[in-house]
Formats: sequence, structure tokens, C-alpha cells
Amino acid sequence: MSNLVVMKFGGTSVGSAERMRIAAQLAAEQSRKQPVIVVVSAMSRITDLLLDTMRHAEAGDRGGMEANLAALRSRHEEACRQLLPQTRRGPVLAAIQGLIGEFERIVNGMAMLNERPARSVDEAVATGERLSALLLSESLNADGTPAVAVNAWDLVVTDAVFGNASPLMEPTREKASAALRPLLEQGLLPVVTGFNGSTADGRPTTLGRGGSDFSASILAAALDASELWIWTDVDGIMSADPRLVPDVVVLEEVTYAEAAELAYNGAKVLHPRTLAPLADKRIPVWSKNSFAPEKPGTRIVPAIAQATGARAVTSTAKVALVSLEPASAELSGVQVMARALDAIARADVEIMALSSSSYRQSFCFLVRAEELERTLQAVESGLALELAHGYVRPIHVDQDVGLLAVVGEGMQGKPGLAGRIFTAISREEVNIIAIAQGSNELTIAIVVRRDGLEKAVQAVHRECALGR
Ligand code: ADP
Ligand code: ASP
Ligand code: MG
Repeated sequence: MSNLVVMKFGGTSVGSAERMRIAAQLAAEQSRKQPVIVVVSAMSRITDLLLDTMRHAEAGDRGGMEANLAALRSRHEEACRQLLPQTRRGPVLAAIQGLIGEFERIVNGMAMLNERPARSVDEAVATGERLSALLLSESLNADGTPAVAVNAWDLVVTDAVFGNASPLMEPTREKASAALRPLLEQGLLPVVTGFNGSTADGRPTTLGRGGSDFSASILAAALDASELWIWTDVDGIMSADPRLVPDVVVLEEVTYAEAAELAYNGAKVLHPRTLAPLADKRIPVWSKNSFAPEKPGTRIVPAIAQATGARAVTSTAKVALVSLEPASAELSGVQVMARALDAIARADVEIMALSSSSYRQSFCFLVRAEELERTLQAVESGLALELAHGYVRPIHVDQDVGLLAVVGEGMQGKPGLAGRIFTAISREEVNIIAIAQGSNELTIAIVVRRDGLEKAVQAVHRECALGR
């Protein structure tokens, strides 16, 4: 649909009745000019609350479960009361009860079994988005914009990797078009749940934490939207995380590749997989602040005419460094590396940075902290014989590290830049543990001691003159 715009509202942008009302106004106003599909996150902190409730259930902690369920009810009922006139509240409060009732049934099952199966978690955790889609659509209706809540179970078809599913674009295109086009033709504004989908045979899945951005880009691609707008709580994509660096600037324009690198290396402002579905159709994305909608935001485009050096620095502390070293130089380090990487690939673990050097062919790689256990299991079983016979030294894990990444298309062929970055970090007396740079020179990834991470980010931001 050539003039369709998909608008995604993040957790803080629908975090209260007041925020929902503003989100509804932004969507309603645009829908008077062109067809709009809204994608919503759960209200801020609700997904954490739902996941925590399931952990209480697994541990058989009824008290913890009940307290969380009460918080879940009161947050949504209060939003409903503040959002809707009395005459409209009854059925919506009943629908809220219904959705929370469904969640409660799944959680009770978990408590009974002392187990938290991944596919049940995915079914239950989507409750947050189903509740916010209900509230936002009812708010639109109450203010005179006919809207309807849609569960993305019925639109987004995924593989069966529960908790981190990937979309199957062809069936998604068919289902999403068949369900959403008739709604738009009837003049209804669809409010779709972010974060969730289902397998071809109907089992609920989710797209990973922060996945509503990804939901929105999947739907934008599936429906050939003209633009995707991602409404969040900051003015756009910035030269660094504004919580770490005081003098950040908002980037007017970044490329898909830059945005993807930033997200992948820890910038929470976008889900790392958001840009992938848009590449073929070159659909532009806006990252905008729902708290200051008049500000232009950042435009994310397939390419920019003139790339200018480093654009932004990002970081994450939720990582672990795994090192492997053959016990003797007679052993082929490359073979050890190959077997370890093969095992990691089969375990579906993503390597964030990898570095190897030296005669001994020791190597180290960085993984997300939440994937460490799976990584170690995979490597231990992949190298079981070598480890048992002492051909490979015991696996070394360092969790006291952080990743810093400098990103910019224009860094290519800029001699001296890497040197300046390393010097700036050393000047802060922060120890550099590993360095990785892909041959495309889009990102320089640097692993440092965790307690120096923040200082290093600030130093690099200053050295590359990224700020004001
Ligand atoms: P939403 O709930 O709208 O999806 P998120 O909390 O997931 O929002 O992402 C927005 C947050 O990302 C901002 O509040 C900001 O603190 C953080 N952030 C980290 N790095 C950056 C960056 N480079 N530019 C903008 N925001 C960033
Ligand atoms: N609500 C989900 C989460 O908190 C998805 C999202 O907000 O994007 O991870
Ligand atoms: Mg987010």
C-alpha cells in the first residue's frame, strides 16, 4: 500500500493513561491524512512484571505471584478509568479481566508443574501487548477514531524459536494483508500487538526483548508501507546513550547499516533486527520522541550521499568474554576454533566480537551474558575430547568486561582514527582487553574492563568530537 504508514509506540509512550492519550492523538491525526497501522508495546515495565510472575510460579511462590497479578490488574484498570468515560468502561474492564484471567491460568499451570516451558512463556508474556492494544484502541474509539485491537498471533508467522523467533515473510505477507487491508478499507485503524507472532501451526511465539520495533518493521515490509515511524522517549538516535554522556547530539540521518550496528552493539533505542525486513523495499524509518513530537527525530535511510567519519559510540555491559587456547603449539588452533564455532553456531548463539592472534592461536569471543550458559554447554560438548585429554586449556570466562563500539560508514579509510580512539581510552587508564574490526570498517569493537566502560565511552565521544 503506497501511502501506508506504520507507527510503533514503545513502552514509555503508552506507559500511562496520559501517554496513551497522546499516542492516540498522534495516530488519529496522521490517520486523517493517510492510512495508518499502529503497533504497540506493553506499558513500560509490564513485560518484566509478567516474566517475574512466571519465575515466581516456577518456584511455587504463590505470594509473589498474587502480588504481581494484583499490580498487573491495578495498573491497567487505573489506566482504563483515567482514559475512558464511565459509559465506555464496563466492557473494557471486563476484557482486561479476561486477558489477565488467561495469563493467570497459564501461570497457575506453571506453578503446578514447577516448570516454565518456553512456549507457554511466549503465550503468556504477550498479555502485556494485548492489554495495551486494547486500551489504546478503546482510547481512539472514545475520541472518535474508529479503531480495532489486533493480536499479531493472527498476522506474523514465525519459526518455532520461542523467545527469539524469526519471521517467515511470505506467509506473514499473506496473513497480514488478508487481515489488515479489509480493516483499513472499512476506515478502521488497526492497533496491533508488538513483540508476538505464532508458528504456521498456531503456537504463540515472541521476537525477543524489545521486539516491538521488529514487529513494526515486519508489518511495514509485509504491507509495502511508505514509512515506519518509531515513537520512543528520546529525540531520536543519538551520538551516544544520553544516560551515559551528557552532551550527546541527535543524528539527523543515519544509514540502515549504522543503525543496525548501533542496535546490535547495545543502543537500546532500536531492536537489532529492525532494519533487516526493510532493506529490499528501502522503506525509510523515523525515530521520534512521543514526548516532543514537534522535533524532527532521526531519519534512517538505506544510504547517505556523504559519510563523515565516526557517528556514534555505544556500549553494553551485559556481555561475557570466552577464551580458548590449545595446550600445545602442535595442535591446530584453527581446527579448535572451527569446532568451537561450529558448536556455537548449532546452539544458535550470536558472537558479538571475535579476536585471534599469536603463535598458539588462542582466541577469544564475546557473547551476550544471557547466552553464556548455552555457549559454554555448546563449546564443552563440541570440544569434549580435547578438553578431557588436556589438548585444550580449560575454558576461560571473563564476565567483568564491557563492549564499546564506535560506528560510522565514514570511518572507512580514515587512517589514524583507530589509534586516536585507543589512545583516548588508555588516557583514562582503562585497560583494553580485545579489539575487533570487520573488514567493512563500519564498526570498531573494543572490549574493556567493565568498571572503565562508562569513562571509555565518554572519552571516545569527546575524542571523536561526536557531541555538541
Ligand atoms: P521504547 O520503550 O520506546 O522501545 P527503549 O527504552 O527500548 O524505548 O529505547 C529508548 C532508550 O534507548 C532511550 O531512553 C535511551 O536511554 C536508550 N539509548 C541507548 N543508546 C541510545 C542512542 N544512541 N540514541 C538514543 N537512545 C539511546
Ligand atoms: N514489551 C516487550 C519488551 O519489553 C517488547 C517491546 O517493548 O518492544 O521486551
Ligand atoms: Mg525498545
